[in-house]
Amino acid sequence: MALKALDIYKLLPKKNCKECGDPTCLTFAMKLAGGKADVELCPYLDEAAKSVLGATTRPPIRLVRLGIGERSFAIGEEVVLYRHEKTFYHQPGILFKIADTISPDEISAITTRVRDEFFTRVGADLRFNGIAIENASGSVDQFARAVEMVEKVADLPLVLMSADPTAMAAALTHCGTYRPLIHTATSENRKEFCTLAKQHGCPLVVRAKTIDELAQLTRDCTADGVQDLLLDLSPESLEAFIVRSTAVRQLAITRAAPDLGYPVFLDAAVMDLQDAGIVMGIAKYASVIVTSPLSPVASKTALTLRQNIYTDPQKPIQMNPGLYRVGNPGKDAPVLMTVNFSLTFFTLQGYLESTRLPCFMLIVDTEGLSVLTAVAAGKLSEMLVKDSIKKFAVEDEVSHRKLIIPGYASPLSGRIEEATGWKVMVGPRDAAEIGEYLHEEWKK
Ligand code: SF4
Repeated sequence: MALKALDIYKLLPKKNCKECGDPTCLTFAMKLAGGKADVELCPYLDEAAKSVLGATTRPPIRLVRLGIGERSFAIGEEVVLYRHEKTFYHQPGILFKIADTISPDEISAITTRVRDEFFTRVGADLRFNGIAIENASGSVDQFARAVEMVEKVADLPLVLMSADPTAMAAALTHCGTYRPLIHTATSENRKEFCTLAKQHGCPLVVRAKTIDELAQLTRDCTADGVQDLLLDLSPESLEAFIVRSTAVRQLAITRAAPDLGYPVFLDAAVMDLQDAGIVMGIAKYASVIVTSPLSPVASKTALTLRQNIYTDPQKPIQMNPGLYRVGNPGKDAPVLMTVNFSLTFFTLQGYLESTRLPCFMLIVDTEGLSVLTAVAAGKLSEMLVKDSIKKFAVEDEVSHRKLIIPGYASPLSGRIEEATGWKVMVGPRDAAEIGEYLHEEWKK
């Protein structure tokens, strides 16, 4: 059972010396309780206290990093079963799987695509994370050559997929220092794979048919000195994956089975319904998902879903307040005021772009709340609009004094007019109608 912050605090030396990086022992205890600090940071803890605290306060799911450099990514360190209880912290890496039997040109094209392709949504660049190379040929040399080819094209996180320790050793000579994920150790080849993982400092996937066997395997691997592990649940169906992944997550975060406290690996490419596998992997706790290269539509769907599931439900996605330009607006361009809830911003911006009428967007700081919520909560006020006009020097940008406000902010129109001295025009409630509105109202 996890200790509560107060119980942890009782075990701390209470010097309030800040050497752990926290201002007080109490804040350190709170971090420990949330699995967000390491007991080793306090130099005054004796070994007995460390062993009590270490067992109960380390993150219930181990943090593991794949790859090195700019595109490397961390997974694990999750603390809840349901997103709304807190948040999910580390989004799953999604990697395109290629067989070592495909042509060098195809290997190069897929790797280049993962290296370069991205699309921007609500201000974030969304991309796939790397390449998984499968030793489908069974040939040691062919596997190593395919890995070498990928390495030549891009520095991306890799998953090396082979059950043959000799093939794995050959592939690791090309990328072993870049922390590729080794897939996969079973009870048969565990010794050899642990040796390779230790030798190259790489994370290792372990695979077994039952949860008990998986727990035994992770115990054996940690005894062999490999700590950075992932779990392949060997699901024979989508349903089996959901059942096992949920059980593993539950047992891990409640610390009922610490040997299962590792991120989950999913090979969606071997599932009958790959797209459904990806969706379930994202929603149900997979931390590394391997898939065949996806179509543009499926790519956007997967990346959008991942972004949505892994945003913090307690923090609306926000834009920086400011004056934004759409096109190249001149002194007579309209000024449209709205809130800094990013979905509002990007929706309105998209519709404004399609009108082809250059304009300014004055984005005011409502702490990420939507228009309706901000008005109801008193976060959108005439003084905020007045201060924003001044702060972002809107009067220097345009020669007129007309401000278009969102339809849902109409109850504030009189007060905004009074406070700012600007003529307020109430725009539509639905951003989709902004083009028609500007066409009919702006040039009057
Ligand atoms: Fe307290 Fe230890 Fe942190 Fe010092 S280092 S403030 S004693 S928890």
